[in-house]
Amino acid sequence: MSTPTQRADRLGDLLAKRDLHALLVTNLVNVRWLTGFTGSNGLALVYADRAHPQRLFLTDFRYLTQAAEQLDDGWRREIAVEILPAAAAALAGAGDDRTIRLGFDDASLSVKDHGTLAARLANNVELVAAGGLVERLRAVKDAGELDKIRAAAKLADAALTEVLGRGLVGRTERDVALDIEVTMRKAGAEAASFPPIVASGEHSALPHAVPRDVAIPAGTLVTIDWGAQLDGYASDCTRTYATGELDPRDREIYELVLRAQETSLAAVRAGAGGREVDAVAREIITAAGHGEHFGHGLGHGVGAEVHEGPRLSQRSDSTLATGQVVTVEPGVYVPGAVGVRIEDLAVVTDDGCEVLTGLPKQLQTIA
Ligand code: ZN
Ligand code: ZN
Repeated sequence: MSTPTQRADRLGDLLAKRDLHALLVTNLVNVRWLTGFTGSNGLALVYADRAHPQRLFLTDFRYLTQAAEQLDDGWRREIAVEILPAAAAALAGAGDDRTIRLGFDDASLSVKDHGTLAARLANNVELVAAGGLVERLRAVKDAGELDKIRAAAKLADAALTEVLGRGLVGRTERDVALDIEVTMRKAGAEAASFPPIVASGEHSALPHAVPRDVAIPAGTLVTIDWGAQLDGYASDCTRTYATGELDPRDREIYELVLRAQETSLAAVRAGAGGREVDAVAREIITAAGHGEHFGHGLGHGVGAEVHEGPRLSQRSDSTLATGQVVTVEPGVYVPGAVGVRIEDLAVVTDDGCEVLTGLPKQLQTIA
């Protein structure tokens, strides 16, 4: 397991490579990953130079005690009414008169906050857009993080098994979605990692369907996409179930998606390209004449956030690395007819992957 200090050291090394003197970390998920702080207002200032006196953490008065409990001694803690101007002030004395290149997260800092910061910074501090640096480090999980994601996936599996035991036919999609959420919470989840998707019949052709107040009929397919948030980490899984005797077309699409899922999952390993793994599933689906019905990427990273790097898609430039956690989730969506998606969550290893989602993938009937 890596300590917050080791994480900040690795970030410092990354800054040095980018010729940045410091990075202002404002995205709270990144702040938590770096410092351990779980409050709703805080920022971290990390320097490239390890010899620099101390990393700075700023929060407001409400989190005085919490920050003292959660942060280790590698961080100098300060309390301020407005933390962004306070960060600017902290930089004012840094580095005599040489230019300080201060990175900021251009993907999360608002235009307003950028303005506040720019107006307060000393003349020798140059703001440099540097989004995604913490995210790049976060993409590779340490053993402690993998344990948390494993536990979240296990909890989500157990919750869905319990919900399926109460049946699907005749219940509304909303009722099943709510049941999944409540069952996960009762089992100890902090939250669902996203609002569960329960989509039956024609509605399953919408990849991000919102559960309806419509009873699930017999003899159709139901796609369920759900995940748990546990101890700060997310899980993500999709299974598609039959609710009775199926139209042969639906069964055929199910078998196609399953073959694409299993084949592309088998292609996941360290060194494989995100585009290359996506192509494995896409070729199978395209060869069966459904290429245009698979309109999203094959998968995404999962960790502190349910959607993070790396991406597995036609536009991905990622190369998979050991310790990354990715989903493999091909789908076929025939508008107005039917949709099937099957998704697993897997840890990338040197020679393959470890699948964290354990529910069966052979087509099951749940009445
Ligand atoms: Zn999902
Ligand atoms: Zn997903």
